[in-house]
Amino acid sequence: MSGVIHLLPDHIANQIAAGEVIQRPASVIKETVENAIDAGATDIKVIIKDAGKTLIQIIDNGSGMNTEDAVRCFERHATSKISLASDLFALRTKGFRGEALASIAAIAHVTLKTRLHSVETGNLIQIEGSKITNQEETICSKGTSIEIKNLFYNVPARRNFLKSDIVEFGHIREEFIRIAMAHPELNFSLYHNDSEVYRLVSGILRKRINDILGKSSNDKLVPIEEKTDIVTLYGYVGKPEFAKKTRGEQYIFVNNRFFKDAYFNNAISKAFDGLLPQKYFPSYFLFLEIDPSRIDVNVHPTKTEIKFEEERSIYPIILSSIRQALGKYNISPTLDFEQETSFDLPHSMRNMPVVEPTIKVDPTYNPFKTSTDSASRSTGSSFSKAIKAEGFGNKDLNPKDWEAFYNIEESEEPIQEKIEIQVEESALDVRQLVFKGRYILSPLPRGFMIIDIPRAVERIVYDELMNKFILNPISSQQLLFPISIEASKNEIDHWNDNRSLLERFGWNWTVNENQLEINAVPSILQEEAIQPCILQIMESIVFAEIDKGEIAHALSLSIASAAGKIKKVEHHQSAEQLIEELFRCPEHSYSPSEKKILDKLTLEELSNRFS
Ligand code: ADP
Ligand code: MG
Repeated sequence: MSGVIHLLPDHIANQIAAGEVIQRPASVIKETVENAIDAGATDIKVIIKDAGKTLIQIIDNGSGMNTEDAVRCFERHATSKISLASDLFALRTKGFRGEALASIAAIAHVTLKTRLHSVETGNLIQIEGSKITNQEETICSKGTSIEIKNLFYNVPARRNFLKSDIVEFGHIREEFIRIAMAHPELNFSLYHNDSEVYRLVSGILRKRINDILGKSSNDKLVPIEEKTDIVTLYGYVGKPEFAKKTRGEQYIFVNNRFFKDAYFNNAISKAFDGLLPQKYFPSYFLFLEIDPSRIDVNVHPTKTEIKFEEERSIYPIILSSIRQALGKYNISPTLDFEQETSFDLPHSMRNMPVVEPTIKVDPTYNPFKTSTDSASRSTGSSFSKAIKAEGFGNKDLNPKDWEAFYNIEESEEPIQEKIEIQVEESALDVRQLVFKGRYILSPLPRGFMIIDIPRAVERIVYDELMNKFILNPISSQQLLFPISIEASKNEIDHWNDNRSLLERFGWNWTVNENQLEINAVPSILQEEAIQPCILQIMESIVFAEIDKGEIAHALSLSIASAAGKIKKVEHHQSAEQLIEELFRCPEHSYSPSEKKILDKLTLEELSNRFS
């Protein structure tokens, strides 16, 4: 009886291999552009239709292939880049596994035109599902053009799993950027649906970074340079004050190959310790040059994971060279981004001489005297009325809490025996104390409620926007002078992709080269909040891979948090108003970004401090 094991036919084996190497259109871009670089091209053009689902075409001016190679390149394990196992440890090329073209040809309709520089005519090969359907001599330019149509036409599971064009093109763009960043000496261009997305002209690394991320990034870069026996390190890190809340701009390369490495990433983050607020990520564009025999590139089919023989020695080199560079550029470790907890002196007081504090005592002041007449002065509430403090700060409070605070009988026991001193009425007029425009301290019968104003505003504005935008566009305010924001192509495209929703939220803009000219903004935004808000929206729509349904949430959140950071509550009337508005929100204990809005300081805690 014959056995049941047999060898898989090539086209099936190729399809299986394709599952590992080609996960989405972006993987095709990576593999084919890398092939162009390995072929010595200096000019590489990438043409995409429908985020690569319809067409991916790569045109290069590299070496080209002769007739024999043009056929052979589609075979599995066909490579010109290595021949001996030992070559694996002397790699200077991007590819070496001989899998990419075989994989692509197994799952798409491919047309290859390729011509050596030394001959007049080239070769045309058409192949689909691993079968050559046409082969002929052709007139074409020197170099190679490869057209990949109908990707995954015969792997419906893969095709159906592809995300929206916006998301898939986002991946393509990211692959393109990784390769273009690694090779500033080459010209690259990227076209999507007939419009030019990037045209990158060869130059130095700094120029390449600016061309990709926008000219304004130039001022944000700190150069890194370190040469040791093990590794040479160069590139740039972003100045801490320009750090972002997403990991978008983190690029590390070894021998000009992009890779991912949590361990080295940790070294870089450590170098920024104390310089960044929580949840901010540094930007970096770092290049390691290392003897290829000291790394293993062959640990993952897409080669984005790399083993380093001496990773433990490289870690401190990365850490200390970045630290040094940041130090050299006078970036002190006390930068305070949001002034989260800063209680610094007002500017005008900073240069005043230090005077020993003196205490003025008002002998008639009675902090515990309950006074009913001051209550009549405003909304029927007063400092002297007892307010029940139990329960707030819990997530399950109901919106009536604030009213409940007011409507409590005067039944609380005095905490301590009364001090028999008469008090001036005005001394009791303070019901809410606004501290540095950041916190409201509001007395409760057994302590204080403390409200974080920016977070409270964030909650109020967020709820308002989310409630309103579905029914009506958010009210918009035309700017007298449009605000110009320099933005990368990527960022501008994302604004345009989300046009209808952004307009619903009150935004209006035109594009002028690499400038977004903002003409109208949501009217809820105060002037100083506009710019931070735009930057925050950029962050969320460009780098975070958010689903369509979540964009509204992200926009509301960006607007609300920018509004919260700027809005100041200076006088008591509006503090009270703010508290009332806050307690009208069903969730008033936590901000939409899940931060605590309320806290309390109880009399017990206070008296413990004085015990
Ligand atoms: P690998 O890059 O791992 O060698 P590929 O399947 O990507 O494997 O490519 C197979 C071979 O085809 C390459 O080794 C190279 O010789 C040739 N080739 C592929 N693309 C090009 C190109 N754009 N120009 C010249 N030769 C190419
Ligand atoms: Mg290759």
